[in-house]
Parts: sequence; C-alpha cells; structure tokens
Amino acid sequence: MHFAAGQFAWLSLEPSALALQQNPFSFSSSAERRDRVELTIKELGDFTSTIGSVRPGTAAFIEGPYGALVIPDNASGAVFIAGGVGITPIMSMLRTLSDRGDTRPLALIYATSGPERTLFLDELPTLRTRLQLEIVHVFENPGQEPCERGMLTADILERRIPVDRPDLHYFICGPSPMMDLAEQVLALRDISMDRIHVERFDIA
Ligand SMILES: Cc1cc2nc3c(=O)[nH]c(=O)nc-3n(C[C@H](O)[C@H](O)[C@H](O)COP(=O)(O)OP(=O)(O)OC[C@H]3O[C@@H](n4cnc5c(N)ncnc54)[C@H](O)[C@@H]3O)c2cc1C
Repeated sequence: MHFAAGQFAWLSLEPSALALQQNPFSFSSSAERRDRVELTIKELGDFTSTIGSVRPGTAAFIEGPYGALVIPDNASGAVFIAGGVGITPIMSMLRTLSDRGDTRPLALIYATSGPERTLFLDELPTLRTRLQLEIVHVFENPGQEPCERGMLTADILERRIPVDRPDLHYFICGPSPMMDLAEQVLALRDISMDRIHVERFDIA
C-alpha cells in the first residue's frame, strides 16, 4: 500500500468493508515496505478493547491514506515530541527515514509512564545507530536507565529541544495536554506555524 510516513487510515474488520465501525489509526510501519502495513493500537474503548482477540486471518479493510503529518522533502531536520501511543506515526517516519538512509539530524523526545509501557523500546536503539538520531526518554516511573524523570514539562522541553534551530520541522503527537504544552514551548521559541506539525488522536 502507498502512504507517506505519518499518515493514517480508517480500519474496519470483517464481516464488511461497509461496517459502521470504522476507526482511524496511524501507520506505524515503514512507507518503504509496501508489501506490509502495520498499525499499533492501544486498547481504550469499544472497538480497540477487542482488537487483541481478533483471530489471525480475519479480513481487515483499510481506507486511506489520509493526513498531512508528513516530513517535507526539503526539511533540514526534525524534532519529534511523542507521548504514549502517539509514537506510532513518528515510528513510521523513523523507520522510513532509516530505510532511505536519511542523514539529516533528528531528535525524539518520548514521554511514557515507564520503560515497561514504552512502545518500540527494543527497536529505537537500532534506529539511533542507523540515523543521526538523538533519543530522550521521559519516564514517570523510571528504572536505572538514563532518562528525564517525571511527566513531560516545559523545563524538559526547553532543555531538550535543540536551540536556535528555527529551520527544523517539529512533529507532535500524544495526549492533548502534552501537545498543548509542546506547542506553547515552540511558540515561545518563535518557531513558525508551518514548521509545527501535529496529529491529535482525541477527536471527541
Ligand atoms: C488521525 C488519528 C490517528 C490515530 N492513530 C492511532 C494509533 O496509531 N494508535 C492508536 O491506538 N490510536 C490511534 N488513534 C486513536 C484511535 O482512533 C481511538 O483510540 C479509537 O478509535 C477509539 O475507538 P474505541 O471504539 O476503542 O473507543 P470508544 O469506545 O469510541 O471511546 C471513545 C473515547 O472514550 C474514552 N474512553 C473510552 N474508554 C476509555 C478508557 N478505558 N480510559 C480512558 N478513556 C476511555 C476516550 O476518550 C476515547 O477517545 C488515532 C486517532 C486519530 C484521529
């Protein structure tokens, strides 16, 4: 399937592509691997809480791609700010950039409750070695690993977002309060709006 890293699709499951139940999910796989589509879904409500019990072989209907959370070709680099399952579109971007041998400077600030609740924790170090990628984990309940401790705060963002880089593009996806905070910090840095890209999962 053709999609740009960062985009999403509407998913419905058997018995019908016309099922009333259709939910949006970002692609988490590389856009370069067109024979394979991967979604990463957090169990939350009526549809997603049953996703773990879907039988292998069940037909899945995917409508898309949609969305504009995409890295411009001419971006000189990117800063990704993710919270929880908001890492999914960013993971697709990182995997895609890795598959393309991208050499632009990248930074990921990734807030979760702790290492055991951190998606892609095993794969991120590999991406760090393949890309020019700096990773900062922000753990509410950290173990022994190097990280920022506690909830993501303006102070952490101030210290961890590269300074004097208005030329970079900034991507934000996570819980609404975290996204609001990140947008405020970037606004105070006079980052122009066309360089700030957001995907809000909570559309209610
Ligand atoms: C563009 C886009 C991309 C997205 N990408 C992803 C993705 O990659 N991965 C992903 O996991 N999600 C993603 N989402 C969110 C996902 O679409 C919703 O979580 C999902 O559709 C909810 O469907 P549901 O039937 O399970 O929940 P519903 O039953 O419809 O619940 C709706 C709302 O009720 C609340 N709610 C229900 N149960 C709980 C609970 N136990 N605790 C707290 N609140 C609750 C939540 O506020 C929730 O949003 C994306 C959303 C958008 C708009």
